[in-house]
Amino acid sequence: MSPRREDAVEGQLLGGRYRLVRQLGEGGMGEVWEARDETLDRQVAVKVISLLAGGGSRGDEARARFLREARITARLQHPYVVTVHDLGESSTQRGIAPFLVMELVRGEGLDVKLREGSVDLAEAARWGAQICDALGDAHAHGIMHRDIKPSNILVTSAGTVKVLDFGVARAADPYATADRLTQTGFIVGTPPYMAPEQARGYPEPRSDLYALGCLLFELVTGRLPFQAPDSVGYLTAHLSQQPPAPSSVVAGVPEAWDALLLRLLRKDPAERYASAADAAQALRGLADAPEPAPTATAPLTEGWPSPSPGGPTRKPVAGRNWIAVAVWFLVTLVAATVTMVNIDGVDDGRDVASGAGAVAVATGGLIVWFAVRARPRWQARMALPLRFLPPALLFCVYATVVAADLADDASVGGIDGGFWLSVGGISTLTLVGLLAMAAALTPRTGRRTRGIGYALVGVNAAAVVGTLTTMLSGHRFGFQYVPFVSRQWALFAVGMAAIALFCTREITTRRAGSAGLTEHR
Ligand code: ATP
Ligand code: MG
Repeated sequence: MSPRREDAVEGQLLGGRYRLVRQLGEGGMGEVWEARDETLDRQVAVKVISLLAGGGSRGDEARARFLREARITARLQHPYVVTVHDLGESSTQRGIAPFLVMELVRGEGLDVKLREGSVDLAEAARWGAQICDALGDAHAHGIMHRDIKPSNILVTSAGTVKVLDFGVARAADPYATADRLTQTGFIVGTPPYMAPEQARGYPEPRSDLYALGCLLFELVTGRLPFQAPDSVGYLTAHLSQQPPAPSSVVAGVPEAWDALLLRLLRKDPAERYASAADAAQALRGLADAPEPAPTATAPLTEGWPSPSPGGPTRKPVAGRNWIAVAVWFLVTLVAATVTMVNIDGVDDGRDVASGAGAVAVATGGLIVWFAVRARPRWQARMALPLRFLPPALLFCVYATVVAADLADDASVGGIDGGFWLSVGGISTLTLVGLLAMAAALTPRTGRRTRGIGYALVGVNAAAVVGTLTTMLSGHRFGFQYVPFVSRQWALFAVGMAAIALFCTREITTRRAGSAGLTEHR
């Protein structure tokens, strides 16, 4: 492959008028730049659609159609829709590419806000209502958005939204031919947010409401209604799976939010809100409502050791990060402990070397984790393996410790085989293992995924039973939990509680999910 070619370069003059200043971002269609309009002497944003760069009659045709479509969407004038100032074509390293000149919005994308995990319910309702206002205006003009997703919504410093890329997905589709609001038989959009009918190739205005439902679901719970490893997985889920009730994903989400989001996410567009205006009204009702205190039946695992103890239980989940940090911390703790106790009783460099090695690997893992979290596309790809990594690794640790204990009851270098890691270290590891497992086993994932999850819970449950029998009988039975757990009733109780919480959460989800399904039928 040849080295990556830039679509545009700093200082380049587009259309004899727009001087590129700095790149703001890059999406599936090309790059967005901050630029100076040298005629009007003001800053603007320029989106270069390199997807449509290229020669040949087919390329020319696609670009001409893009400009035609973009001209129509550029007519939209609404306070919550980014204003399009100009359209043009420019030569880039990939060939002639169309570009779109827009008002430069000083603000943050919802994708960034989601990564920061800093959205509260009132904000989500306010922004949702404003997006609906924008959609309502566009639909009234015969324009669908077709690609509502976090990176296409900016929030200005005044706290209002600006919807970007109206109709651009459709305009940039090289195969599009038919009218804008008719059923057209092609697929454009972003799979994690795509309505079932849009996935089938027949979008309609209420497909935008479905995408908004996915986006609001993500703002409110921190995760998408469906998790999938790839585009096909997302499309299949939108077509065939029922979304979970948001309150079953994150504790403390009010019932009214559950009802609103599940209605936006109906498979049949006719069962969603009739119009964007209706959805806006419902959202405004929620924006005014006070946030309720979390309910007692709410699943507790989400709110367990979070970095902000005592904070509200509804914590958007950008925050799985604490699990990664906790794992890193534990590895460091265990490495330090191992180094201190000298596994083989010989005080030499090997203990220090293995400790340092473990910490280095853990630190590398932590860096990769944060890099993946910062990139939604990588994250989507990594979602499934990452979900099982923590419980699988922790189970390996249990197995290693238990096997070591069973194999060698005698003292090693004066330290009992079952006690060769510090009590505190293993206790914490066990606790975190159970919690990580409960967190990893998100309900409403695919059947196979959940099957593996149940198997892991089963293994740990067996281990807990082993511990219990040891505690009661004083004898050691086959598959015993980490040996000294028997002396720690509190830890045992926590293990049981974690499993019980997982089951409660699962049952709550199923109930809420089926309630959502029967409503309005
Ligand atoms: P897609 O190509 O599917 O729309 P995307 O939305 O992730 O993907 P772009 O639309 O190219 O990517 O936008 C890239 C970045 O540029 C986004 O993060 C967005 O916040 C920023 N951006 C886009 N338009 C503007 C604008 N008018 N003012 C300020 N920032 C903008
Ligand atoms: Mg975009």
